[in-house]
Amino acid sequence: AKADGSGCLRFFEPANDTRMHERRVQEIDLRRAWAAREFELFFQPIMQVTTRRLVAFEALLRWRHPERGLIQPDAFIPLLEEIGLILPVGNWVLSEACRAAMLWPGAPRVAVNLSPVQLAHGGLVASVAAALEESGLAAARLELEITETVMMKENPATVVTLERLKALGVRIAMDDFGAGYSSLRSLQRFPFDKVKIDRSFVAGLGQSQQSEAIVRAVTGMCVSLGITSTAEGVETPEQLLAVEKEGCTEVQGFLFSRPIPEGQVPSLIGALAAG
Ligand code: C2E
Ligand code: CA
Ligand code: CA
Ligand code: CA
Repeated sequence: AKADGSGCLRFFEPANDTRMHERRVQEIDLRRAWAAREFELFFQPIMQVTTRRLVAFEALLRWRHPERGLIQPDAFIPLLEEIGLILPVGNWVLSEACRAAMLWPGAPRVAVNLSPVQLAHGGLVASVAAALEESGLAAARLELEITETVMMKENPATVVTLERLKALGVRIAMDDFGAGYSSLRSLQRFPFDKVKIDRSFVAGLGQSQQSEAIVRAVTGMCVSLGITSTAEGVETPEQLLAVEKEGCTEVQGFLFSRPIPEGQVPSLIGALAAG
């Protein structure tokens, strides 16, 4: 075993060696990509259920690789986090999302995903404040999405950071609600403005009574707490009717639109407004 410089010990098995080499190659490629500005934001609409009107867009990161084409975030965000590059990239996402939202007709909100690494870093509140200030976006139009993994760390500083963010006037949403182990505990620790119901529950609607019961219970809880509930991953008209029946406030999913490049957002806003 030998220290790899990150403080953990690794065994030199051939397979592990190959993996470390691949990781190193991808790390170099990611650093190059950041310098070459190959990251882009796509946007996916979020609709209000009762009115079927557009209320927000979620910003979703993409990597436009010169040889490999468009790469989805699950394939590179973990490494961005591991090498710390998520901090500058995350700040860029915040600035870009706020800048883009300033150009949208009808002033929908914009939702930005935050990495646990960003939340653990002391500079987040200043970065969010700077993104609002530079763009001129009203704080009430910015929503920050975090997963419960952030709250699991039992770190009191996290709650303080979330409170300071809320004091700026932005909204805080819990992402992927129910997908992990301590969603309820997280809700108890911090007054979230919104819960995004994980799409694994939405996928089961119309197929399993369990999924229906769970979605109904979560939306009922949100009503009691006076917060918004968003159903993720709505792909069919049947799923839309089901989440409507269960009382979800907002919906997001391929039924309305896949995530699209920034340039296509104004025409999508027009199309959605026209019905
Ligand atoms: P997420 O925050 O849960 O984002 C929703 C994901 O579900 C997106 O995948 C979106 O394309 C996908 N989705 C939306 N509607 C549907 C649907 O109807 N059916 C199905 N099957 N999928 C749907 P995407 O864009 O690949 O993002 C994956 C994850 O990467 C995100 O999950 C989020 O955790 C992370 N991510 C994306 N952008 C950022 C970012 O800027 N910063 C950070 N820290 N994480 C990000
Ligand atoms: Ca999200
Ligand atoms: Ca989600
Ligand atoms: Ca997710």
